[in-house]
Amino acid sequence: MVADKFVIVVNRHASIAELENLARRIIEDYENPAINTHKHEYLNLKIAICEIYDPSFSVGRVLHDASIGIDTLENYTSQDIIVFTHGIRNALLREETIEKAMISTIAGEHKEYLLLHYQPLFDVKTNNIVGFEALARLTIPDTGLVTPAEFINIAERRNLIFPLGNAILKEVFEFLRQLKDSGHSDVFVSVNISGLQLLRDEFVDAVRKIISSFPEGCKSLVFEITESVLVGNLEIANKNLKELRELGISIALDDFGTGYSSLAELCDMDINVLKIDHTFIGRIGQNDPIITQDIITMAHRLGLKVVAEGVESEQQMKYLTEHGCDIIQGYYISKPLSEHDAINFL
Ligand code: C2E
Ligand code: CA
Ligand code: CA
Repeated sequence: MVADKFVIVVNRHASIAELENLARRIIEDYENPAINTHKHEYLNLKIAICEIYDPSFSVGRVLHDASIGIDTLENYTSQDIIVFTHGIRNALLREETIEKAMISTIAGEHKEYLLLHYQPLFDVKTNNIVGFEALARLTIPDTGLVTPAEFINIAERRNLIFPLGNAILKEVFEFLRQLKDSGHSDVFVSVNISGLQLLRDEFVDAVRKIISSFPEGCKSLVFEITESVLVGNLEIANKNLKELRELGISIALDDFGTGYSSLAELCDMDINVLKIDHTFIGRIGQNDPIITQDIITMAHRLGLKVVAEGVESEQQMKYLTEHGCDIIQGYYISKPLSEHDAINFL
């Protein structure tokens, strides 16, 4: 292939396991330092196995698969052998389809691929729905519904998260305007912001541009960020958070309890809301839920509002209400809803 890449063609083999054994033996042969040199030079070998099972195979296709196999070994695993299977090829094709869909959504060619669902947030003290969390989905023809757990990760790796995040924010602003038009200007919308967005220098300017047609919407806007963004980047993150706060946007710390930051560290963060991760809520009624109670008390002492995520049962709801949690989110109240259903839910 090129420079330091070679192709070995094996004529006839009994099984993939036989090819894997052969690859293992080749790698073992190179485990000792190269001979015939005065220095100890090690060769770091990686082998991608592509099985040619189709008589109409093309050399180009096999080389292409082998290159992707090597690329996968170098970038995504610590293994030194990979069998390039149908599964890997399909996963890569799916990733490509999702990437293309995101690009065309961002370019405005297929805005309809991006869909926002809204999960109601219930205020325990007033017994009202006071807000929604915007949760993004993609609907791609022939692929179907793609969850954010899958495409946000791809967007982050493929450098698309910044423009995609802006497209999401624009939609959220449209929804805020609709809420206002239907007489619900007091209802807020919370939107997830990736660390890669928040830490970009241009982020605050991009937000300013998006809100310019409806600046009063900012007071009904919450940005959810995770603590992993803040760790190690506190200075730049806080600078941007401060500017966002000045625009009237509130900041919520998402998934609290899953990272490393302690309650003490919350004092250094420029935030207004704490969202307790669903893993804590899931423990209510099982083991000792004392920690959830302590988080609520401490957060209140720091002047933060507390949202409990992933509330699914009456027992959890009762516990959280008794311990002064401010806002409840979860299937017990409602699943995420379409824009239309969300407004009707109010
Ligand atoms: P998250 O911010 O922690 O969002 C909550 C997730 O929990 C949502 O999944 C929601 O549907 C789900 N959920 C809500 N209530 C319950 C419940 O009672 N039980 C259970 N088992 N699950 C519940 P979803 O919509 O699949 O979102 C997953 C993650 O994707 C989000 O986690 C968030 O990190 C990310 N995400 C979603 N939308 C966006 C977005 O617009 N931008 C960015 N950067 N990330 C997003
Ligand atoms: Ca969230
Ligand atoms: Ca969360």
